[in-house]
Amino acid sequence: MTQRKRIALLSTGGTIASAPGTEGRAIAGALPGEQLLASTQLEGVIDVHVESVFQKASNSIAAPEWAHLAKRCRMLAEKGDIDGIVITHGTDTLEDTAYYLHSTLDTQSVPVVVTGSQRTPHAMGSDAFSNLRQALELAANDKARSLGVLVSFNQSVYSAGFVRKVSSYQLNGFDAPGLGPVGLLDNGEFHLLQWPARQALLPVPDQLVRVDILPVYGGADRSTAESLVRSGCQGLVIDGLGRGQVPPSWVSVIENAIQDGLVVAVCSSTLHGAVHESYDYPGALHDLVLAGAVSVSHVSARKARIRLALSLSAFGAQLDAIRSAFEWRSPFP
Ligand code: ASP
Repeated sequence: MTQRKRIALLSTGGTIASAPGTEGRAIAGALPGEQLLASTQLEGVIDVHVESVFQKASNSIAAPEWAHLAKRCRMLAEKGDIDGIVITHGTDTLEDTAYYLHSTLDTQSVPVVVTGSQRTPHAMGSDAFSNLRQALELAANDKARSLGVLVSFNQSVYSAGFVRKVSSYQLNGFDAPGLGPVGLLDNGEFHLLQWPARQALLPVPDQLVRVDILPVYGGADRSTAESLVRSGCQGLVIDGLGRGQVPPSWVSVIENAIQDGLVVAVCSSTLHGAVHESYDYPGALHDLVLAGAVSVSHVSARKARIRLALSLSAFGAQLDAIRSAFEWRSPFP
């Protein structure tokens, strides 16, 4: 007889763990993990050990919680008595937590799967229990190893390297735009269809360096850039237009800030595609790169912010090390 798989379920709160509040509003995180698990009908199929790590809405989850979760996952994996880890999380910042863990955890022997739900457990047609059940089944599957951290949602499995929340309310709430899921979950089976490219693993710092995001949009004022570069952050991610452009009036602000020691990365605010020095006009990516900015591709600004913060915490302002931390590599050793 094959031994039952053992999964650690770390619950952190969010809609998936919410209880009814007043006037139809939900209290995110009010439901403990044990109660959630009871409705997955996996008793006797998978052995699940529940830990209610936090009971928070995900807008309250940030660097201290990320570090705590990463260390807890590492400890559980090193103990050697579990086959997988599932983390339940609010969907609003699920992609941030999942990417932090993806950037810091080795999943060779113990898969790590993050899930949540769009509807509360008490809502009609809730996806809370089906998403949790699918995440547990995925974490118990040997094929989920070595893929990096995975996000399981609505029967689709995404690499945490590329996943984004794409709907504020529909059950199909997540996607990896332009790339799609790495696999599908169907009747308890994991159909693995793609191996996601990877980035280097980075250490979990005691204190994460502060990095902010500067959004770019038509008509954005120079004063917005000026106030953010002076706000005390050590790193800045510019969520650039298209191939990585900013308004012409911003170039000198960025140049001066870089000369004063700010580390600046530029990504694209589009959902898919790389930044590129395609243009020769004021404010084009070429100007920013000449000023010393690092251009980064295939990461959202939210993910770039986390990776830049982890890189700055690990290497300081060494631009070559930071560039290399953003490189995409083959998943095969
Ligand atoms: N507001 C909730 C949260 O992120 C949304 C969710 O969990 O779906 O905590």
